[in-house]
Amino acid sequence: LTVLGIETSCDETAASVVRRDDDGHVEVLSSVIASQIADHQPYGGVVPEIAARAHVESIDGIVARAMGEAGAGWDDLSGVAATAGPGLVGGVMVGLSFGKAVSLARDLPLVAVNHLEGHAVSARLGADIPYPFLLLLVSGGHCQLLEVAGVGACRRLGSTIDDAAGEAFDKIAKTMGLPYPGGPELEKLAVGGNPERFELPRALLGREGFDFSFSGLKTAAARAAVGLTSDEDRRDLAASVQFAIARQLAERTEKAMKAYAAEHAGTPLRFVVAGGVAANRAIRERLETLCRKHGFDFHAPPLKYCTDNAAMIALAGAERLALGLTDPLDAAARPRWPLDQAAANANPTHV
Ligand code: ATP
Ligand code: MG
Ligand code: FE
Repeated sequence: LTVLGIETSCDETAASVVRRDDDGHVEVLSSVIASQIADHQPYGGVVPEIAARAHVESIDGIVARAMGEAGAGWDDLSGVAATAGPGLVGGVMVGLSFGKAVSLARDLPLVAVNHLEGHAVSARLGADIPYPFLLLLVSGGHCQLLEVAGVGACRRLGSTIDDAAGEAFDKIAKTMGLPYPGGPELEKLAVGGNPERFELPRALLGREGFDFSFSGLKTAAARAAVGLTSDEDRRDLAASVQFAIARQLAERTEKAMKAYAAEHAGTPLRFVVAGGVAANRAIRERLETLCRKHGFDFHAPPLKYCTDNAAMIALAGAERLALGLTDPLDAAARPRWPLDQAAANANPTHV
């Protein structure tokens, strides 16, 4: 199957062509991303109206480039997959409408992809990772632990009760005067800093379950940032923040690993970390160590597929198509759309 993927849920306009063989072998034929970071940087965050306009302006050219770089014509496609949510609805509508137009004009099946399902399969763009696996999804808008048995088969174990991990990185970076998006900037600043210099709170430590909370950490970091001017102080705070976020991710993941291992005794144990924050080296290393301790294989997407891209949307689309899961041309754009199937079925529109 050869699938065109389209992604417009936030501040990246992206298109990609991915080929997936019947045996599950995946090849990314092209992956084109137009970032709008420069458009939003003056405002310190994504401005929805600016994002929607920028998607409208670039979607045409980005899809043409993705098709061109893949050396693909419309007749080579088996289907078109577009992100249908969750995300900024103005942007989602641009990409989804474009996908519907291609589907209608070329008589191709449409797959309306959940952006989070894209992140969930993204590690499979770089390696053949069989289902099921335990997933830590850490992005700009989400922080969840899930059991992933395939597309359309995710079960949520826990999630953040306030901010997402990427959001915490971005907001703390902003209070420290770093440019948007703050996650990668904060990682750079943390190099050589002392992670034990500032003591930051550990949320929900003794609590049952696998939920996360980052708002207390954010407030404490903002308080600590006041009046810090020397490079050394700022490096130490950045390192301490990164350490505290990594520590919470690891503490919750370790609990989930124990529960998952008990449930899947006697079968191969696999762990995947995905989403923008999975690009963070300190976090990857910490989770990798955890995997060795608990007998899990460690997987993460190649760095370029951690943050938003359309290859992951094309792959989720191809996997759905292989199962016969397609969507009608009136598929809705969904600003909110949980990945967990039980939650999604309980409230099918989520508007
Ligand atoms: P969602 O997928 O939940 O809708 P999103 O699409 O905006 O949100 P992603 O593109 O997956 O999120 O990830 C972007 C987030 O990842 C931002 O918060 C960014 O700061 C963070 N991020 C990217 N690289 C790093 C890094 N090296 N260290 C920490 N955080 C990072
Ligand atoms: Mg983004
Ligand atoms: Fe994302």
